[in-house]
Amino acid sequence: ASAEIEAGLRRALAEGGLELHFQPQVDGSGWITGAEVLLRWRHPERGMVPPDEFVPVAERSGLIEAIGLWVLEASCLQLATWADDPALGNLVLGINVSSRQFRQPEFGNQVLETLEACGARADRLKLELTESLLLDDPTATAGRMRMLKSHGLAFSLDDFGTGYSSLAYLQHLPLDEIKIDQRFVRSIDRSAGDRAIAHTIVALGDSLGLQVLAEGVETEAQRDALAAVGCARYQGYLFGRPRPLARFEAQVREQVARQAAPVTQDDA
Ligand code: C2E
Ligand code: CA
Ligand code: CA
Repeated sequence: ASAEIEAGLRRALAEGGLELHFQPQVDGSGWITGAEVLLRWRHPERGMVPPDEFVPVAERSGLIEAIGLWVLEASCLQLATWADDPALGNLVLGINVSSRQFRQPEFGNQVLETLEACGARADRLKLELTESLLLDDPTATAGRMRMLKSHGLAFSLDDFGTGYSSLAYLQHLPLDEIKIDQRFVRSIDRSAGDRAIAHTIVALGDSLGLQVLAEGVETEAQRDALAAVGCARYQGYLFGRPRPLARFEAQVREQVARQAAPVTQDDA
């Protein structure tokens, strides 16, 4: 089955069968500041295939390097297209980078060249890395991150709290953001333990000068519990599901239109 998936993926990559979906990331007031880019495979027979079903196969076969490059390019083109639009030009896109891709010696230059070729600003791009990637070869990783960061890119630590428990690396890596994993968010409004974990991650982020963003926020009760422990950046179904480009753009334009609307007697 995995050979079949791989062949299908190769075809999709060559023939335009991959697409990007965008999931809003919001600040404490619910304002959309950017999006996480999530890959989708439009399969001729099976419809939309979620990444959990094909990313692991692509990682094992090495195809993830070509796919990751495609995601990078498509995201940079998107940023360049938005650049002069007052509603969309400030959005930051976060892309997921697999460890296999990040470990390529040429990865850093590929990112810079792609940004340049597309005409996109480096400070509109955020790379989401996982703990296992950071721990894989900390010295090389830190060097590569510092190089990219000096050009304006940001780094986010994905799925925080689910991997290793070594925290020592955190202070040596030039991260900008930590993402609280969904598993701590799911029951946070009912579980004192999850609240304690979220609180600790926020305190850790504060003391290291890192933003903390919670993912998988589905309800207002979860959002309120996160706000109560000081977490003020969110992503999840409460603020929007991952959606195709046109629908994400419409959502952003709508918030700008709402803000620009004159305040009437009733609102005041
Ligand atoms: P992730 O980076 O942890 O992405 C977040 C996942 O949580 C996404 O699943 C998203 O759709 C889902 N999610 C977001 N909000 C909610 C919510 O409120 N509730 C629940 N239950 N789920 C929520 P998705 O899109 O299926 O992606 C799965 C994983 O696939 C991602 O996990 C990421 O590790 C990987 N992935 C996605 N796109 C790419 C890519 O372009 N490159 C690489 N290397 N990996 C990717
Ligand atoms: Ca992610
Ligand atoms: Ca995640």
